Amino acid sequence: MKRGIPTLDDLEARLDDLTGKRILVRTDFNVPLDGETITDDFRIRAALPTLGWLTERGADVVAASHLGRPRGAPTPKYSMEPVRQRLAELAPGVELVENLRFDPGEEANDERFVEHLIEGVDGYVNDAFGASHRAHASIVGPPKHVPSAMGRLLEREVDVLLGLRDSPKRPFVVVLGGAKVSDKLGVIEALLETVDSLLIGGAMCFTFLAALGRSIGDSLFEPDQIDTCKRLLEGGKDIHLPSDIVGLDAAGNVATWGGRVAQGGKGLDIGPGSAAAFADVITEARTVFWNGPMGVFEDDRFAAGTRAVAEAVAATKAFTVVGGGDSAAALAEFGLDDDVDHVSTGGGASLELLELGDLPGLAALREGSR
Ligand code: ADP
Ligand code: MG
Repeated sequence: MKRGIPTLDDLEARLDDLTGKRILVRTDFNVPLDGETITDDFRIRAALPTLGWLTERGADVVAASHLGRPRGAPTPKYSMEPVRQRLAELAPGVELVENLRFDPGEEANDERFVEHLIEGVDGYVNDAFGASHRAHASIVGPPKHVPSAMGRLLEREVDVLLGLRDSPKRPFVVVLGGAKVSDKLGVIEALLETVDSLLIGGAMCFTFLAALGRSIGDSLFEPDQIDTCKRLLEGGKDIHLPSDIVGLDAAGNVATWGGRVAQGGKGLDIGPGSAAAFADVITEARTVFWNGPMGVFEDDRFAAGTRAVAEAVAATKAFTVVGGGDSAAALAEFGLDDDVDHVSTGGGASLELLELGDLPGLAALREGSR
């Protein structure tokens, strides 16, 4: 048991012997697809330690995952077939059921769908960290009925992220970016209690800059979040905002501004001065958590800020954790994903675990073991 949650070893002890036992493994195989081609199989590879451990012990392993948003109906575009082919190469012998979200019972957490899932199953393993913040049938249902455990991936995610929350080595620096402040306010508030410095870039910095009364031109911002940003800025914490901004001016040309974006301009990246300042703070840290790109890194003209942060995170001696699909994609694109200590497989899940210290999927495993 770890934090009251059974591990694979506990499951083996509980089932006595895994040979010939049918084990349902909830995995997160929600991989990026280009047509029928998997563009990044990171999430499939991340499940291999658990799948391998179970098959080595002679278990009969059946994996189950969602893919995309088919909204409760079979949709050919979201068929698991490409995943099934890749999985057959990486983990021969592991069965894979069709997309869980083809059935409306998955997202509705319908008890009948849970019963269907556990039919003929002797044990259940949750290794789907990226889906464990959802109270969906395949996440919270099976532990109520069959002996259950967390897989190796889920265990590692929980160890790393709760470790950051409970006992980070200091200075603890959090770098946040990405599109929406409103998505990340909860985690900002929770983290402000423990972090030493918070660095804010991405589109979300403009709501903070607006809260300081700075002109932000036509940059993305969320007017209804300004008061909250003001309150956070007045909380006496070390919050760093960009001192310069790169973007497109009113004529559509790339421009760099100091603290103020010109009228009609749109901020799309942190500027070189801010990138250097952020990198310095990261270099001095002993723990770093990074979520959300600093700019529209998909466009080369606005990738420099994200690249500078990624390079600083890769180079620092600190314990480094990166969460978030787009941040992880940026790291991989720069070839730096091997240079951080932990790349989380869950964006929303990693933020929610940092914010609340628990997830529905973890609670279900804990309660199921009582
Ligand atoms: P993650 O997936 O790492 O959690 P998010 O999904 O929150 O990150 O945000 C990623 C998106 O934010 C990227 O597609 C990026 O283009 C966008 N973004 C970053 N900075 C800006 C900006 N200044 N203006 C508009 N979009 C931005
Ligand atoms: Mg994203």
